[in-house]
Amino acid sequence: MAADRLSADVVIIGGGVMGSAVACFLGHDPAFTGRVLVVERDAGYARASSALSAGSIRQQFSTPANIRMSQFGFALLSDPAPWLTVDGEVPDLGLVRRAYLILAGADIGADDAAGGAGAHLAAVHAAQAEAGARALLLDPAAMAARFPWLNTDGLAGGTLGLDGEGWFDGWALLQALKRRARAAGAVYIEDRVTGLELSGPADGPRRVTDVRLASGGRIAAGQVVNAAGPFAADIAAMAGIDLPVRPRCRSVFVFDCAHGPHDAPLVVDPTGVYMRPEGDRFICGWSPGAGDADPDSPDLAVDHSQFEDRIWPALAARIPAFERLRPGVSWAGHYEMNVFDANALIGAVPAVPNLFMINGFSGHGLQQAPAAGRGVAELITHGRFTSLDLGQFTPERVAAGVRLVELAVI
Ligand SMILES: Cc1cc2nc3c(=O)[nH]c(=O)nc-3n(C[C@H](O)[C@H](O)[C@H](O)COP(=O)(O)OP(=O)(O)OC[C@H]3O[C@@H](n4cnc5c(N)ncnc54)[C@H](O)[C@@H]3O)c2cc1C
Repeated sequence: MAADRLSADVVIIGGGVMGSAVACFLGHDPAFTGRVLVVERDAGYARASSALSAGSIRQQFSTPANIRMSQFGFALLSDPAPWLTVDGEVPDLGLVRRAYLILAGADIGADDAAGGAGAHLAAVHAAQAEAGARALLLDPAAMAARFPWLNTDGLAGGTLGLDGEGWFDGWALLQALKRRARAAGAVYIEDRVTGLELSGPADGPRRVTDVRLASGGRIAAGQVVNAAGPFAADIAAMAGIDLPVRPRCRSVFVFDCAHGPHDAPLVVDPTGVYMRPEGDRFICGWSPGAGDADPDSPDLAVDHSQFEDRIWPALAARIPAFERLRPGVSWAGHYEMNVFDANALIGAVPAVPNLFMINGFSGHGLQQAPAAGRGVAELITHGRFTSLDLGQFTPERVAAGVRLVELAVI
């Protein structure tokens, strides 16, 4: 079919895990009877975050709504059959059930009125427990007893997830969502969105009427979903919306260490360095903290100096077995960083009510795609959230200046 004759009830821009989750869950809702078109500029997903992720899932967030999203993600990963079966085939999403061990340095929260790092850790732990995330609060002695390979010097303590955490095959999740969406009738086309056309008064709500494509075609659209990942701000700008989502480069390094702790949890060090087992190897990376440079970076390039200068020294200090290791392959992907408050932006803004955002997941989107995709499908079909209330993630909070702060960004 020629691109210049297309029309759809829902046009989804970006066919990564977010766009495909929306398409998949629209297909599940009997109340939705429309035609879905997904526009993806790279059918091979060579630079998509969904294909370059570390594929891990946790319950240990500080925001209850994030915990609930990841709980649904874990339920789907544990039992994909109700959501992702196609022609009787249930996809294998490669879920490994394993905890996160999030370590707190003795210097964090030092200005907490109630007494420094221990109090800070206990407060975050209590907030998690209230939202249903089961985790153990461990002091350094308890950690040393449980994980003899861990050097607990300089730590105030740590939290160890008790369930609902681990890692999985992100590529398999993407493909399974896409396959289920297609089975329900969604059509994927390979093209690049270059513009949006809007109608309505300049000073009042406007609606997107058409999506313009690089091929020269256009799609008449009823509703539009911005699922462009790290490049979501470009799509929002086409509708005059300033979305605080930026592409930020994150490198992942694989290494071998035969004598390393292969049964370790995913360990997050206070330096921002994380590592976890991956098959008979390990993977690791680093997330910049508040004081570190983190420039916008539309291009993708592995920063090899990060491993030498920052990651390996931190790993070897925390897990002495890693003093001797063999570096392997590495890759870089984009975090779609919400520079306003490091939390997801889900829903529309009043200025353009038929353009739905599903953006800004800031490094935890793969695990949250099922809940977020289901939520946006509900907004499109019912005009409100009908399962999990994701109202806190409204992009309206940006203009209102109200931050939904997530403390646990990894
Ligand atoms: C190194 C790394 C590690 C990560 N680790 C984890 C983790 O452990 N756990 C976790 O939950 N999350 C993790 N994430 C985050 C997670 O991968 C992302 O949040 C998630 O994949 C975002 O999905 P998306 O569909 O929004 O973006 P993408 O997968 O990037 O998809 C967006 C798509 O939009 C397309 N697109 C963009 N612009 C246009 C346009 N103009 N026209 C047409 N198509 C367009 C792109 O080609 C792309 O395929 C990690 C990310 C990285 C980079």
